[in-house]
Amino acid sequence: MLLLDGKATAAAIRAELKEEVAAGLAAAGRAPGLAVILVGEDPASQVYVRNKERGCEEAGIRSEAFRLPADTTQETLEVLIDELNGRADIDGILLQLPLPKGLNSQRCLERISPKKDVDGFHPENMGRLALGLPGFRPCTPAGVMTLLERYDLSPSGKKAVVVGRSNIVGKPLALMLGAPGKYANATVTVCHSGTPNLAEECRQADFLFVAAGRPCLVTSDMVKPGAVVVDVGIHRTDEGLVGDCKYDDITCIASAMTPVPGGVGPMTIAQLLINTVISWKGRTGIAG
Ligand code: NAP
Repeated sequence: MLLLDGKATAAAIRAELKEEVAAGLAAAGRAPGLAVILVGEDPASQVYVRNKERGCEEAGIRSEAFRLPADTTQETLEVLIDELNGRADIDGILLQLPLPKGLNSQRCLERISPKKDVDGFHPENMGRLALGLPGFRPCTPAGVMTLLERYDLSPSGKKAVVVGRSNIVGKPLALMLGAPGKYANATVTVCHSGTPNLAEECRQADFLFVAAGRPCLVTSDMVKPGAVVVDVGIHRTDEGLVGDCKYDDITCIASAMTPVPGGVGPMTIAQLLINTVISWKGRTGIAG
């Protein structure tokens, strides 16, 4: 079985970005800039933000963190977003979710300029994805697509099943897989909590993507022999981190699979860095 090593692939991407940034620095006149906003003290979010800052540093991106207290008002947050929208040295704005209770995340996400929306959550960028137009793509599904491409695994002409239809993973991933393109062009089925026979649907998949947020939901009897399995889920349990798939059992059946941790997680951050560098190139006019 082929291990789809997101950790190693992400490290290679960071090294490539570092070279790209160094090559464009003189012409651009400045390094790429990413603003990261973290509201409150959610421990998981703090880890994610630290990892994103570390990734930026390795790729030659200047990250600026804004750590705000949990009682920050909607207005204060929106004023900060407006300020960052207007700053010439900021190419991307990332608002770490979830926000503390009382804050309206959708309103904040819509406040971020679509031109700096490197997380790809703004309705304009989601609409562009649906229409097949260029724009920032959400980092987790785009990171999954990048991982497939790096391993030369093409779902073109194959049957893909996506378990989950969230706005940040399942829905955009299904759109990306079903779009034309060498590393897309799949026939896509989307499953959710209303799907009557999940096992049967999953067994049809040549490419199975699981983003249900349910630990070990997908077991080996639900996987077609030789399938490529991408596990997006991540859960902290007494036995350590686990995904949405029963990893050990499925590795005996699948032809390729992502581990948890070390699969999709690092690719999500790598994609954020890619999006930031794309924004920097466009905004400084050095894009080829
Ligand atoms: P979410 O918003 O909770 O969405 C879960 C989706 O799965 C929903 O569409 C839900 O259906 C569906 N679902 C839940 N139980 C199901 C079942 N038994 N059978 C079929 N479908 C089921 O979760 P998310 O934000 O997409 O995240 C999914 C997982 O990925 C989580 O474990 C999350 O931590 C992880 N994640 C990882 C990364 C990363 O970088 N590695 C990034 C994002 C998310 P309904 O729509 O019908 O409710």
